[in-house]
Amino acid sequence: MEEISVKTSSRIEMLDITSQIRSAISKSDLQEGVCTVYCPHTTAAITINENADPDVTADIMQKLSKMIPLHENYRHMEGNSDAHIKSSLIGNSVQIIVSGGQLKLGTWQGIYFCEFDGPRTRHVWVSIK
Ligand code: ZN
Repeated sequence: MEEISVKTSSRIEMLDITSQIRSAISKSDLQEGVCTVYCPHTTAAITINENADPDVTADIMQKLSKMIPLHENYRHMEGNSDAHIKSSLIGNSVQIIVSGGQLKLGTWQGIYFCEFDGPRTRHVWVSIK
């Protein structure tokens, strides 16, 4: 397993971590298999989406924040319930096929670390099998 460090710079943010995942695959000798990218945090998530137009990730974050506001009648005293809810909605992991030693992503796809309660230094676990 590889661990990747991710430094986020604002409270909510989508960071393209595709190149870091590609590096982890290059370091392994895997030619055919599956890469699992896992987020071990309860206020962050991992997803795959378009990496060509940055407005796509901006729209995703804007819509999530509209659906799940920062302040609501939440019970959780830490004050970051919106981040916990967004984390569960988006999910903690993605799996990508590895073939010919390469990540099999669609033309416009990138792997994103989704920060919902930053800025922080985060970790991503990558299993390549
Ligand atoms: Zn909390």
